[in-house]
Amino acid sequence: MLIVKKFGGSSVANKERVYNVAERILEDYKEGHDVVVVLSAQGDTTDELIAKAKEINPNPSRREMDMILTTGEQQSVALMSMALQNLGYPAISLNAYQVKMHTTSVYSNARLKRIDAERINSELERKNIVLVTGFQGINKYDDITTLGRGGSDTTAVAIAAELNADKCEIYTDVDGVYTADPRVVKDAVKLNEITYDEMLELASLGAKVLHNRSVELAKKYGVELVVRSSLTKAEGTIVREECKMEKMLVSGVAADKNVARVAAIGIKDEPGKAFSLFSLLAKHNINVDIILQSIGRNNTKDISFTVPRDALEDTKKILQDNLSRISAERIEYDDSVSKVSIVGAGMASNPGVAAVMFESLYDADINIKMISTSEIKISVLINEKDTDSAVNAIHEGFKDRF
Ligand code: ADP
Ligand code: ASP
Ligand code: MG
Repeated sequence: MLIVKKFGGSSVANKERVYNVAERILEDYKEGHDVVVVLSAQGDTTDELIAKAKEINPNPSRREMDMILTTGEQQSVALMSMALQNLGYPAISLNAYQVKMHTTSVYSNARLKRIDAERINSELERKNIVLVTGFQGINKYDDITTLGRGGSDTTAVAIAAELNADKCEIYTDVDGVYTADPRVVKDAVKLNEITYDEMLELASLGAKVLHNRSVELAKKYGVELVVRSSLTKAEGTIVREECKMEKMLVSGVAADKNVARVAAIGIKDEPGKAFSLFSLLAKHNINVDIILQSIGRNNTKDISFTVPRDALEDTKKILQDNLSRISAERIEYDDSVSKVSIVGAGMASNPGVAAVMFESLYDADINIKMISTSEIKISVLINEKDTDSAVNAIHEGFKDRF
């Protein structure tokens, strides 16, 4: 059997954890399986590297950021290889360049395009345990890229798809996917299984237990994922196309703090204005999420929308430079908001879901700034400071329906 295992940062945070993971890798290897392991940077290494870079230059170029951030993953694979060798087993670490993992050119947010399997396969034939850096790739200029925060999950799924692995296991610091972040909601419930579609929504809406691109890839290539703990033997959650259980009304609550709200006030109320605003942002690769248009005074309208908070500075600059083109009187910004969402495939056929969500927020005295809905999710924009209480209140509201 060929098994791909991915371990996140906290799972390899220190010497003891490194050896703990080494033992888990060896359980499979000793049974005669081929094992490819994808690792993240240890503990808070990535955050520390970001802080270090910003100390030198508050606005570092994305290329150099990728160069420094990928050193974290490179440390992890080398250390794990040393641990396995120290235990008497053959292992080899490989970075994205050695594999090779080809991506698009966009630094800091590249997408995997193609993986050469040759080197990994030849190392497996030599009976090596193969340790591959998560999160990193190389682009057509032979530069190092990264796949975005949390991207090691995507590396693992892409390798599992490329090698046609029999299993792809994502090990983390919680024992599966829960109905809400178990660190925020004390009585969140572990799900035994969840569909790709629901998991994709949860991941995209802020449940960072899986990188959203990893779920997209898993669905595309039919890679069944298991999310489980590196610290316990608990069974974990299976992510797959179809679930045996009856469709749940709501499968989870997710929160995202990487959100900012922008309002273009006093736009002329005539055709083409929304187009000029949003095409401008699209041209600069800014992802717009919730959009709300309301009537203003004297034949004007206001358009509010959300962007990722880490794109707010770029958004501000673009809009200020183009105020007359979008014919707005002024632009307002709010970066102290968050987005809280519920996801569930059963929602489409159950009209009462939105009301339950809004009632829960009302009971907790939390004001809603914006709302957006789709077939399988409802999101609200609220004050950031209310995030955890909103997640708890909504989870409580759906308690009997998970
Ligand atoms: P890793 O370093 O292993 O990749 P992450 O920190 O990226 O781990 O993701 C795991 C974390 O995701 C958990 O510690 C948990 O706090 C958070 N999380 C958010 N939403 C959920 C959820 N619905 N189920 C499980 N964990 C969640
Ligand atoms: N180390 C990277 C990060 O913190 C990638 C990952 O953990 O998946 O985002
Ligand atoms: Mg992660």
